[in-house]
Amino acid sequence: MARHDRRKFAFDLDDDQPPAPPPTCWLCGRVLGDSVDQYHPVPKSRGGRATVAVHPICRRTIESVFTNAELARSAGDRAKLVDHPEIVRFLGWVAEKAPDFDAPTAPRRKR
Ligand SMILES: [Zn+2]
Repeated sequence: MARHDRRKFAFDLDDDQPPAPPPTCWLCGRVLGDSVDQYHPVPKSRGGRATVAVHPICRRTIESVFTNAELARSAGDRAKLVDHPEIVRFLGWVAEKAPDFDAPTAPRRKR
């Protein structure tokens, strides 16, 4: 029993690699849950290639607030999106929610 405990403790000491930080959401910065969306900050239809990991609710919120043309103009710059009053309000509201929290969001804006 004692030996087992000592080995476990030694294992903990040898484990000097800090655990990888959990992945976080591009938009809200909260830890991601089981459901993760790969989102194009610049829409695919506007030539966007890069994707970022976001909560489904964060993706839908972006899509409900911005048109594809606006997203293309933001050029994938998160700072430009989080300046929007509706996004500021959303981020304040969602900040304390659980990673897999979900709720209905406004419908997508017309393109
Ligand atoms: Zn998020």
